Amino acid sequence: MGKRMICISCPKGCELILEVNNEKLTSVKGNDCKRGEMFARSEVENPTRVLTSVVTIRKAKSKLLPVISAEPLPKQKIEEAIKEMRNIVVDAPVREGEIIKDDLAGTGIKLLAARSLKKIG
Ligand code: SF4
Repeated sequence: MGKRMICISCPKGCELILEVNNEKLTSVKGNDCKRGEMFARSEVENPTRVLTSVVTIRKAKSKLLPVISAEPLPKQKIEEAIKEMRNIVVDAPVREGEIIKDDLAGTGIKLLAARSLKKIG
């Protein structure tokens, strides 16, 4: 029986039926366009996610700074990235888009501040 997923590449949301062998996509049905096949292949063979979370910040009104990965991370690196982020402590002021960490979980992907926080005191 095929694995089912919804294509989220456009609002139509086609229901895809996938055949997978050894973590490789062998066929896809239900897609109304080529992007559905590309989406399914990426989800099966190289799933990625943009990571959003928080890190500790000192000398700011808030104790937590929202952060976001500059690019989607391979799904298998997300747990390692979250562990790394638990140890990050930054000092205010921080500007939105500022690089918080250069090489998240050895991926070469940057972690960025998702908002600005002023220094207090
Ligand atoms: S398969 Fe094509 S039409 Fe269907 S949801 Fe994906 S992008 Fe949209």
